[in-house]
Amino acid sequence: MRSCEKCGFPLPEDAEYCPNCGSPVMRMHGFSRAALMSAGRILQAGILGAFISVMISSLSPPGVKLYFIPSFVSSLLVIFLFRPRRFEDAMTISFIVYLFSDAILGGMIFGTLYMEGISLSEAYRGYLLTFLDVAAYAFNPVSALIAAYIGNKIASGMIGESGKYEGTAEQYASEEAEGPGGVIYSLKRHLHSHKV
Ligand SMILES: [Zn+2]
Repeated sequence: MRSCEKCGFPLPEDAEYCPNCGSPVMRMHGFSRAALMSAGRILQAGILGAFISVMISSLSPPGVKLYFIPSFVSSLLVIFLFRPRRFEDAMTISFIVYLFSDAILGGMIFGTLYMEGISLSEAYRGYLLTFLDVAAYAFNPVSALIAAYIGNKIASGMIGESGKYEGTAEQYASEEAEGPGGVIYSLKRHLHSHKV
């Protein structure tokens, strides 16, 4: 039985506060602690995704409008690679991908026009926005959410399949220490579970 860290009073199983001294009970949930991705890793995943998204955008042939697709695809990719266990983490990654992609692309395009002293009307040669242009842009936050949802479903599906959830707190902890995504680990684990 657990006891209070402050006064040593034995605690009931589901106690949130010590019945003796009233201090909050520290819960040592290995699971939820490991399920929480650190802010650094979330940012890492998001920025990687943003660079992939910008690469897709800049490699696409001129005149082809991809709208949210580059950010959507790279959000899915990095969520799959980093395997966040919580939907909130997947959502944060996806939002960072979208936000940073926009910032990088905006900086590149506006920066070039600024440096070369080209006006917007000159650059866009009187281009008239279509309804799709407006709708697709306004749809960005929604598609970011959808990417997070699908990415999280796929990632947690893979985790469930290889039985990763049924581990101990120590296993989660060592997994967490493994570096970006633990991709190699999960791959090894995946192959192993298929061999057996
Ligand atoms: Zn106490």
